[in-house]
Amino acid sequence: MTHTTFRVGHLTCHALEGGRQHLDGGAMFGVVPKPLWERRIAPDARNRIPLALRCLLIEHDAGLVLVDSGAGNKESAKFVDIYGLENAGAGGRTALEDALAEVGHRPEDVAWVINTHLHFDHAGGNTWRDGSGALRPVFPNARYVVQQGELEFARLRNERIQASYLPHNFESIDFLAVRGEAEPVPGIRCVPTPGHVPWHQSILVESAGERACFLGDLVPTTHHLPLVWIMGYDVEPLRTLESRRAVYARALAENWLLVFEHDPEVALGRLAPADRGVALVEPRAIG
Ligand SMILES: [Zn+2]
Repeated sequence: MTHTTFRVGHLTCHALEGGRQHLDGGAMFGVVPKPLWERRIAPDARNRIPLALRCLLIEHDAGLVLVDSGAGNKESAKFVDIYGLENAGAGGRTALEDALAEVGHRPEDVAWVINTHLHFDHAGGNTWRDGSGALRPVFPNARYVVQQGELEFARLRNERIQASYLPHNFESIDFLAVRGEAEPVPGIRCVPTPGHVPWHQSILVESAGERACFLGDLVPTTHHLPLVWIMGYDVEPLRTLESRRAVYARALAENWLLVFEHDPEVALGRLAPADRGVALVEPRAIG
């Protein structure tokens, strides 16, 4: 199974499995000591842990809305090995396109692509190279959306951040660049959740009083729910902590369904108050 279907009010949504990657467990858990995180998720011989490349598809009256696009298929064999990318398509170009086909849609059918941010494992599937080497949008009829600040940040070519920002994933795209909270499609809201990167956004889906939130890298897996289990990759970890605090308060008050982009097992869940912070309830595995 490469998708998990759920409803938010009147909207049908699918969490689409875009394959997997394997990243260093220490980097994924920042200052959390290994004896603590390895009890929850076991590393391989290279100290890497498996991570999903999950995207969200919303069947909306305004057309199909896709949130994030996985890692794509433009990288070298060396890159694929280092990051343990397993996202090749059986039928389509990528596992994401296979998952899209499984729920009855083609890349041409997608009307909106919203990127939480432009790291390669979130925006790599924005583009592909045709036989002549030219970059083309994977979703040729879609309007692509990202935060204006994120686009500028991605273009900095700063040494600390440039390994994650590959220009071929975003430079050829004519983005609709939004600033701060925005609602490019009715009921599909871009909510700034800074910290992982300064203009990271999470996507809140609202219909008939129900809400689901695609967290992106604010909380990449269910194991990252404790406030301070923050990735070493985050460039502003103290802002991540405050973004989480704000999102958890709203998620608890409004009973949000949460979609975890990188959790290898759990696609969805809700929060409940716990002794120290929050606990995951109603976890839903893939499928
Ligand atoms: Zn990221």
